[in-house]
Amino acid sequence: MKVADLIDHRTRQWNRPLIHTTFLESTAEDIHRIKIGEGGVRDKLCWKENKNGCFSMRTAYRVAALRLKQTENVEHSTAREDKRFWNKMWKLPIPPKVRNFMWRACSDILPTSANLCRRRIPVDPSCTICRQHDETVAHVLWECPLARNVWAMVKGKLQKCNSEAQNFYTLARQMEEKLPKKELEVWVIVSWAIWNARNRFHFEEKQSMPNDILHGAMTLLQEYQELCKTSIRT
Ligand SMILES: [Zn+2]
Repeated sequence: MKVADLIDHRTRQWNRPLIHTTFLESTAEDIHRIKIGEGGVRDKLCWKENKNGCFSMRTAYRVAALRLKQTENVEHSTAREDKRFWNKMWKLPIPPKVRNFMWRACSDILPTSANLCRRRIPVDPSCTICRQHDETVAHVLWECPLARNVWAMVKGKLQKCNSEAQNFYTLARQMEEKLPKKELEVWVIVSWAIWNARNRFHFEEKQSMPNDILHGAMTLLQEYQELCKTSIRT
């Protein structure tokens, strides 16, 4: 379809019924707002990067180089930030399996119901625990009522932290920025414990109490850090 097909050439007005049946309401309104010229004038091609509207190779190169540079700058700063974030996360004094879990959660490859569904595995995408939302990583580890109950029991900044994020990686970046290192360690290990509780419920139908989830996580963290200290001393 060409623009010309949308114009009633007898009246030189937009063909309203056709536009309304072809486009969404908002697009149709946008089209109606465009004034149709007097006619008789041929359309012409303009190069908007030049004042006189004429295309030149010189301006084309300049525009291409400028856009390329802008994209590279954005990519560089994102890569730099990602690197800094992961450097810090990999150095946290927490068990390697928990660090590994954090990497999988941030990379959005944990087998939550929503992720399995995305990979075209025929499962119900809703949350195993609450059945209220799709089970994304951010939902199950942060927003689900079970997770909220656990987070409410953690001392410090995390207790009243209600950050919202479009995905778990964005949430992790926010946590890394706002939490002191000790609390960041707790955030990671408790997330891991919530995921284990979710799996116990999903595969064994065993419910875990928020208090037990938190206690288990904190015990593991303390034991691991004690062990690290002892092995440094010996
Ligand atoms: Zn849920």
